[in-house]
Parts: sequence; structure tokens; C-alpha cells
Amino acid sequence: MTDESQKEKLRQHFARRVTNQARVVLDTWQKIHADPSASAPFRDDLSAAADKLARYAGRFEMSAYVDAGKAIMAATRQWPEQQPPDAEALQALRDAIMSLEQSTQRRSDRQSSEPPRVYRKTPVYVALSNHELATRLIRQLEFFGFRAEAFDTPAELMDACALHKPETILMDVGFGGEPDSGLTTVETLQQRHDTPIPIIFVSEEDGTIETRLRASRCGGEEFFYPAVDPGQLIEKIETYTHNNAVEPYRVLVLDDSRAQAKFMETVLRKAGMTAHIITDPMQIIVALEEFNPEIIILDMYMPGCTGMEIARVIRQQDRFHSVPIIYLSAEDDVQKQLHAMSLGGDDFLTKPIDPKHLVATIHNRGRRARSLLALMIRDSLTGLFNHTHTLYLLEQEIVKAQQKNHSLCFAMIDVDYFKKVNDTFGHPIGDRILRALSMFLKQRLRKTDHIGRYGGEEFAIIMPETRESDARTVINDIRERFAELTQSAGDREFHVTFSCGVAHWKGEAASTFCERADQALYRAKESGRNCVIGSED
Ligand code: GH3
Ligand code: MG
Ligand code: MG
Repeated sequence: MTDESQKEKLRQHFARRVTNQARVVLDTWQKIHADPSASAPFRDDLSAAADKLARYAGRFEMSAYVDAGKAIMAATRQWPEQQPPDAEALQALRDAIMSLEQSTQRRSDRQSSEPPRVYRKTPVYVALSNHELATRLIRQLEFFGFRAEAFDTPAELMDACALHKPETILMDVGFGGEPDSGLTTVETLQQRHDTPIPIIFVSEEDGTIETRLRASRCGGEEFFYPAVDPGQLIEKIETYTHNNAVEPYRVLVLDDSRAQAKFMETVLRKAGMTAHIITDPMQIIVALEEFNPEIIILDMYMPGCTGMEIARVIRQQDRFHSVPIIYLSAEDDVQKQLHAMSLGGDDFLTKPIDPKHLVATIHNRGRRARSLLALMIRDSLTGLFNHTHTLYLLEQEIVKAQQKNHSLCFAMIDVDYFKKVNDTFGHPIGDRILRALSMFLKQRLRKTDHIGRYGGEEFAIIMPETRESDARTVINDIRERFAELTQSAGDREFHVTFSCGVAHWKGEAASTFCERADQALYRAKESGRNCVIGSED
């Protein structure tokens, strides 16, 4: 190897380290951004990651990264230690992250006028022998908001995994040139991690039981043979990344002892949960309304009232009828505990609280509560909110918009010529399109937007604090991109579009508001479909 090419190789190696480190920074930011109020534990992580980024980048004169790293460090210095960032610090962080996002965009992204991509997920690594397929899949994954990266050799893949553990790897059984070199690579790779990385294996040649067994033994969750269906693949990837990225539980703690409350807060936040602490029982109603907890922890004995009395008041409200309530007390009298449970409690924890036990109890209760709730409010095909719950959310948002004098938009989406899709390709493919569209919406809309399946192939989107022009721009962008997606059924490929009607709230009742969006949707269909129409157009 000549001197020059060695230098170039080294340069590339460092460049990769820099971009990998940039991702670490962005991923940490995602955790902060997802819930700033619970982000205190990530302050130092972010600062350390940004410092590393600036140092790596400095070595190889990658000045945009050096600047971005330093700007992020400066912004974290504005953020008081062990507290959530205030509005100013948050804005400074946002600005600094924005400049980093711009540096990490590939050249092709920068040339088009796309807004900077928001990274929502940790990466999916793609290690396929078939380059053309890899490129196509990455493009599709990006459409769904996944960050995917392709590798040419097992060594590069291993380096990248060492720096940053991926959410999933899409792996060719023969990646690396030998019939089983992909398997060997994964076997080595998994030994380096405590928890295995879920692997999706692909093979064009070898679908034998021996190979499938070996794949499964080293963390293979799926095995695609002899061809990959991009639609199916994306659904699989979504399930792995989705399961891992559980929304933090929202836990309300009422304890009159400030020290005890603070202790609980620290334990819960460390476990990645969102905690809201009150020490005055009289604040409970306000806290329920504003924080909307999924789990409530009540101290048994407080001045003025008992935890059991508070539980009764909570249970009197329909909305909180099934929220798990966990009592907290020094009480070890079983009779009293039983009595407390009979008055609407679900569990009992005795002080002093063992943090591990606390976290485990909340996880168990929270998981069950969520799955019960999901049965009630979610649509089983798409996981979106069902019709009834969507209308409930709309009414809630109307109240908020009224109180805070915010704007609010409502959009109705209907898939175009969906009957023809079913007739041509079959109902299961139709179902898959509905799931793909719902994933697409979930990935591309803000967390504060509510997405519902309104009926068969109709979806509704509630967009709080959004002006009509912005709502239309966002949905129109989604419409264009969804139409570009290549859908497949066996070896046939096709495209699906949707029409949309958008209305802006004008102070009316929910039913009239929906009606206006529906009429706009009707006009969108009338005017040729595959378009977004406003209610005032
Ligand atoms: P338009 O562009 O006017 O909306 O035409 P369209 O064919 O989409 O509308 P139409 O209302 O005539 O047909 C809707 C079809 O959607 C009929 C129904 O079988 C199908 N559909 C409704 N729910 C589901 C579902 O859950 N899965 C599948 N695969 N199809 C569904
Ligand atoms: Mg319809
Ligand atoms: Mg339709």
C-alpha cells in the first residue's frame, strides 16, 4: 500500500469515527427532546458526547463538526446540573443540534430542499451482498424515518457496532463473500454484547434447516428466503425498534414528605420514567388533569387525609377508573394493607422502598395497564387510535385550544381507489397498505399530533397548535412521499395515493368541525384525488 492510500484509508477511518460520534450525540439529544422534563440525567451524557465529537473532528480538520460539537457543549453549560433544561437552554440546544444535523446530512439531501431529517430511531445496519437491493431498502427505510446505513465488509460492520450498537442488523447469510461468512460475523459480533442485537437474515441461495437453525441461534429473528419483500421487512424492523423504544411511563407521586418524594423522583427518573411529584394532597385534581398519569403512587398517611380517601376520589372520575394505584407506607399490618387494597388500590409497597422493587412494580403495573388501555382505545390492525377515542381526543383538544387560545387543525385522509387495490392484489395486501400508511403517519407527524383510524381506509389527524397552512404543508409532503413509495405484491409493484381534507377550528362543536374536514375531503376526491384541500378552498 502506498503512503498516500494509507493516509486516505486512515482519513476515512477517522471520518467514520466522527460521523458515528455525531450520531451518538443526536441519539442522546433524541432522549432529551422526547421528554425535556425528564432529561436531567442526560445532560452530562450529551456534554461528554459533544466533547468527544469536537475532539475527534478536530484531529481531522472537520470544522463543521468541531463547531457543532462546541456549540452543543456551550448550550449544555447553560443548562443547570441535575435539572431539566429551561426554555432558554432548550432553545440553545435545539439551535446547536440543528447545525449538527445539517452537517450530518448526505450531500444528496442537502442539494434537495428537504428540511433537515429528524432522527427518530437508532440505526438499522444493512449488510447485504446485493448492493442494488441495499440501496433500494435504505431509501425505503428512510421514507419511514429509519436511519439505515450500509456496509461493504464485515470489518466495517464490526467497527460500527463497536462504536454504536444498532437497533437491528439486516444481514446476508453470505455477507463477506463466503457461503456462511455473514453467520460467522454475527456469531462473533453477538459475543461482544450483553444483550443480543436482533438480526434479520436474508439469503438468496440457502434456505436449509441447518442454516436457519444457525441463524436463529445467533440472534436471527427473521429469515427471508429467497427474496426480501420490502414491505414485510419494514414492518419487521418497525416491530423491533418499536418495542425497544417504549414511551416512558408517566408516574404521579403524592407523598407529604418532601425528602421521600424527591427520593422517588430520582429513582423513577433514573429508570427512564417521567415522574411528577406533589406533596400536598389538595393538588391531586390539578395534577391528574395536567399530568394525566398512567400510574399513581400514594402515601398512605398524610396530614388532612389518607391515601385511601384520595384513591376513592380518583376512582370517582371515569377517566382514572382503571389507572393503577400503588400505596406507599411504613405499614406492615397485613389487615390494614388488605383494607387499603379493597378501597381501590392495586399494590402495596412498604417503606423503606427498595428502588429495584419499585421500578419492577411500576413496570409490571404499567405494562398491564397499557395493554388493557390499548384494547379499549386502539385499532387492532394499525395500532392507531380507534374512532371513538379519536373523537374523544378531538373534544379534549378543542377545550385546550379554547382555554389557551391556540389554533387547532383536523385532517381527514382517505386512500384513493382502495377497493381496486383489494380487488387486484387481495385483502391481505390491502391490510398491509393500511399498516404502511399508519406507520408512515406515525413516523412523520409530531408526537403531539393524534392519529386515528377513522374507518376502513380513512384516517383522522388532530394537530394541536398548528396553523392551517402548516398542517397542509406537512400533510401534502406526506402525501407526495407516500405516493412515491413502491408497494409490492409478489413480484408486482404499484403505487397508492390518498386524498385529504383539512379544516381549521373556528370555535364550533367537534361534530361540525369534523363535518367541514369531511367536506373538504369530498372535494379533494371530486377534484381528481391525490391532493390536499382546505375547508375554505
Ligand atoms: P375512493 O378513491 O373514492 O376513496 O375509492 P375507494 O375504492 O377507496 O373507496 P370505497 O369507499 O368505494 O372503498 C373502500 C374500500 O376499502 C372497500 C373496503 O372493502 C375496503 N376496506 C375497508 N376496510 C378495510 C380493511 O380493513 N382492510 C382492507 N384490506 N380493505 C378495507
Ligand atoms: Mg372511504
Ligand atoms: Mg377510499
